[in-house]
Amino acid sequence: MIATTRLINVRLSDPLRPAAGSPQLRPLILLCLKAPDGLVGHGEAAPLESYDGISVERALAALDRHRAVLTELPEPTHVAGLREAVAACVTADPLPQALAAVDMALWDLIGRRTGSSIHELLGVRDPPPIALNATIGAVAPAEAAAEAASAQHAGFAALKVKVGTPDDRQRLKAVRDAVGPEMLIRADANGSWDRLTAPERLRALARFDIELFEEPVHGLAATEALTKALPDVAVSLDESAGAALADGARQLCTALCLKVSASGGISGLIADAARARELGYEVYIASTLDGPLGIAAALHAADVVRPDRHCGLATLGRLDRPVPAELQPVDGLILAPAGPGLGDGLLDWY
Ligand SMILES: [Mg+2]
Repeated sequence: MIATTRLINVRLSDPLRPAAGSPQLRPLILLCLKAPDGLVGHGEAAPLESYDGISVERALAALDRHRAVLTELPEPTHVAGLREAVAACVTADPLPQALAAVDMALWDLIGRRTGSSIHELLGVRDPPPIALNATIGAVAPAEAAAEAASAQHAGFAALKVKVGTPDDRQRLKAVRDAVGPEMLIRADANGSWDRLTAPERLRALARFDIELFEEPVHGLAATEALTKALPDVAVSLDESAGAALADGARQLCTALCLKVSASGGISGLIADAARARELGYEVYIASTLDGPLGIAAALHAADVVRPDRHCGLATLGRLDRPVPAELQPVDGLILAPAGPGLGDGLLDWY
């Protein structure tokens, strides 16, 4: 196979955190994997240094090693061959963000070769739609309320609101007042609260009927201390989900938020979800401001995983390019693309 990469920088139309240091461009690396007869599969690496600490340069270096491995391998024609190819790339460089692109491109290639969607290859026919949440940044309360009302009007039954700024209380109050009691509201602090003040903050915000606090404090020890102090408040891990799985000794909170990029692709995400559930966690899936290929990959994986909560995969609108028709949520729901592979109509975006 011949593997090539291309780096693109996509402008954020609506940065989730307008504070200093937030990225204005979202770099993505497109991986093209060409079979000897010219059939091509595509994948995407979505490192986001401000979120996962992985630079574009680091991901490109890993993909260079993977390209060298893939060039030596025959095209996999079945899932066992895919797993062998991914395992060879893991040996060359285990960086999950780059492996995700390899895994995705291999699934895409097999799907195109066989005329099947990836969820069909994974044994799922006619999957039901995946329920999504809309995401609201750490914006001023009035703006958050307007975005919440707009998301409700578009049919979303769940919202994720970014918190971790001095006006969290006002923002959540404005959102709850705007959408009424039925809407699920998740609060995502991105690990920004310290363990001493976090219990007090959670108690103060829980009055707005918060579905789940995502990564309120950073790290396993702080999370365990928090959930022991507040056993009735639902907490999930996002940035620390991988550490919770690697630790693997005990369940620290209610749920884990899994991502194609952090889990090393579709295969890795499905394996991580199974492991998470063995440990007692609920599971849901989100994007790392992924492009259409990453979102499609997450949806195919979600058809297997069947997430327990609303998924954060309605994020393409945050990037300043038209959302492909196949990936436009309807009433807060979305179907994995029909295929073949990851789906058609996604590549023009790149
Ligand atoms: Mg998060």
